[in-house]
Amino acid sequence: MDWETVIGIETHAQLSTASKIFSGAATQFGAAPNVQACAVDIALPGVLPVLNRAAVEKAVRLGLAVGAQINRRSVFARKNYFYPDLPKGYQISQYELPVVQGGSLPVMIKDVAKIVKLTRAHLEEDAGKSLHEDFHGLSGIDLNRAGTPLLEIVTEPDMRSAEEAVAYAKALHALVRWIGICDGNMQEGSFRCDANVSVRPKGAQVLGTRCEIKNLNSFRFLEEAINYEVRRQIELLEDGGSVVQETRLYDPERKQTRSMRSKEDAHDYRYFPDPDLLPLVISAETIEQIRSELPELPQAKRERYMRDYQLSPYDAGVLTSSREVADFYENLIQALGGGYKLASSWIAGELFGALKRAGLEICQSPISSGQLAGLLQRIQNNAINGKQAKEVFDAMWNGEGDAEAIILARGLTQISDARELEQIIDGVLAANLKSVEEYRAGKEKAFNALVGQAMKATKGNGNPAQINGILKKKLEG
Ligand code: ADP
Ligand code: MG
Repeated sequence: MDWETVIGIETHAQLSTASKIFSGAATQFGAAPNVQACAVDIALPGVLPVLNRAAVEKAVRLGLAVGAQINRRSVFARKNYFYPDLPKGYQISQYELPVVQGGSLPVMIKDVAKIVKLTRAHLEEDAGKSLHEDFHGLSGIDLNRAGTPLLEIVTEPDMRSAEEAVAYAKALHALVRWIGICDGNMQEGSFRCDANVSVRPKGAQVLGTRCEIKNLNSFRFLEEAINYEVRRQIELLEDGGSVVQETRLYDPERKQTRSMRSKEDAHDYRYFPDPDLLPLVISAETIEQIRSELPELPQAKRERYMRDYQLSPYDAGVLTSSREVADFYENLIQALGGGYKLASSWIAGELFGALKRAGLEICQSPISSGQLAGLLQRIQNNAINGKQAKEVFDAMWNGEGDAEAIILARGLTQISDARELEQIIDGVLAANLKSVEEYRAGKEKAFNALVGQAMKATKGNGNPAQINGILKKKLEG
């Protein structure tokens, strides 16, 4: 039987505010345990939560960026459960009335755009952390993370493969960083995904029973966990069994998901509006203010690059993969006064290659956009050829100075003098009569061999386009 996979994703994005969602304690990662947990975070009796305005603004930012409805009035609710890292005995979240409703995210899957619909995004607080190592059979509790603001972003069950799920997660990850609401640091847990996975016979209308795989904090784990889970469910069903709705965990070592707990229903949490917090009311002016501060979004930028700079969908996608990359590109073409394709291919080619080998992000690049512009200008005005440019690039990367200085120091000049090139080519033709005959007998490859010989005779410094032209003229004339 043919099966169809159905996936919906819930993402917890940690909002990058200085202080917590309901208290003034700091949110910075990596502090010693419990030094960033104040009376509100540890739930001392009599304390009251006070909502952090910055968290609300960031939630609205996301909502506007995905074209969602911003609910002018939303409600905080208590989600009741017991766990040692949750001192209040409930988590403050939003349930019936979330701050953001609907919206969608365009996702590129191998050059084909797909729209993933969003159900909602709501504000909530994070819990603390249980530490099971270092305590000789006991567990420690670190409440630094308790009360950290989260935005939970929920999709419709719109994805049909692990590949689509990963593409969605990457697009959302890029967006939250782009609009400056989350640092996206997955190792530190600032961006984590739960994947809801089910399968059904191809063509079926009703959804199959789903399992939810919790806390996937890398794109690779997300992909592996979904692929494993799909295989598991199909095997189960084909053996005449049925899928049990439950929460599962992914074990990256064994590359398997395993059962964590049976799925709890909403009523198990006894959700009710938090009497300590007034409903959240956002004015139309605040929403318009936030809208006016939004940067140009990745999708719009991508389309503009394709339209105004004639870049391919792929190249435009690469250049808008993050705001830092797009900024680098825009600074570069501004310094060049054009050169859209040249700039694009050097960023995606040499620069990305070097950054990847060194394990660096573009904002850590040892070559600035201004320095790269200096190099590309020399290519544009034919001062150096492509091979020389790569040598200059490597030298610049190693801190040998600007393109100008490196070109001078290494005596890199392109031979573009027609008479000088003609003389060299005459010598090459005389020394390679066999290739000349072969070319005249119709062997196209012989031409490339002659170009190669001519470049060699110039010690790699000849202007390749000119050499091509002169050779053609001499061979055909
Ligand atoms: P809960 O509140 O229990 O987590 P929701 O109904 O809010 O459940 O759904 C959570 C996520 O699961 C959403 O992203 C939704 O699209 C997805 N989902 C719901 N049903 C299915 C299903 N049968 N298969 C795959 N995903 C599903
Ligand atoms: Mg859920």
